[in-house]
Amino acid sequence: MKNVYREASALISESEYAIALTGAGISAESGLDTFRGGGGLWEKFKPEEYATISAFRQNPKKCWDLFFAIGDIIDKAKPNLAHEVLAEWETKGLIKSVITQNVDSLHQRAGSKNVVEFHGSHAKLHCISCGYEMDSPSFETIKEIPNCKCGNVLKPAVVLFGEAIPHTALIASERETSRCDCLLVIGTSAQVAPASFIPFTVMSNGGKIIEINPEATPVSNISSLVIRGSSSEALPGINSYIRREN
Ligand code: NAD
Ligand code: ZN
Repeated sequence: MKNVYREASALISESEYAIALTGAGISAESGLDTFRGGGGLWEKFKPEEYATISAFRQNPKKCWDLFFAIGDIIDKAKPNLAHEVLAEWETKGLIKSVITQNVDSLHQRAGSKNVVEFHGSHAKLHCISCGYEMDSPSFETIKEIPNCKCGNVLKPAVVLFGEAIPHTALIASERETSRCDCLLVIGTSAQVAPASFIPFTVMSNGGKIIEINPEATPVSNISSLVIRGSSSEALPGINSYIRREN
């Protein structure tokens, strides 16, 4: 029988510049709901009402209902085995970086250093008017919606729908993607552009793609290897072969 963990281990070990692209699924078992699907946050907070930049401009206080809900979940979350394995692989030079669509800082908390936060971070607050930025306090301790010194309402430094990808993240992800010869696509539905283009760029550059996701996505069709399972099982599974062979 085909052993997908052993095959993934071989693809990663043979590559020269492996990177990971992660999405909400990698954090699902850290207590963070994926937003789509039954019970996901988008059911309670419709994205067009709470998560667009125009909604924030019109009614920033309403959007803070969503930001408090996310902040509260992130405050309580802990990295899981999948985050930990990626951090270990970076230390060993097996992967070079992680491009994440997540805003939860769990990769960094697990020890990953080279993390491109494609959709920004909840760990910072940002003023869309004057550009002021500060570290977020623990969301539990925020009693009132925070204002900037310039008088505007601050927002978490996350990319809302309709907002541009942060310039530095875009440049870093283009650099990593152009070098990549093996891309692990983990826990992303690959529906949110432009992050969803990354696997297609790697494929057209001749790189190999390994998808880890319990469900099929548009990336499945272009993957050299598909692992249909949860990332907190699959990554330690692959790691057991990497440890044996390195
Ligand atoms: P998504 O919710 O669209 O897709 C999640 C994917 O993860 C699905 O394909 C699902 O099958 C898969 N999945 C579910 N459980 C899994 C598991 N245990 N292991 C592996 N895969 C699993 O998420 P997305 O593609 O990241 O896009 C949603 C957007 O919402 C992102 O841009 C992200 O910024 C934001 N978001 C962030 C967080 C976070 O920071 N943790 C959480 C939810 C959403
Ligand atoms: Zn300001």
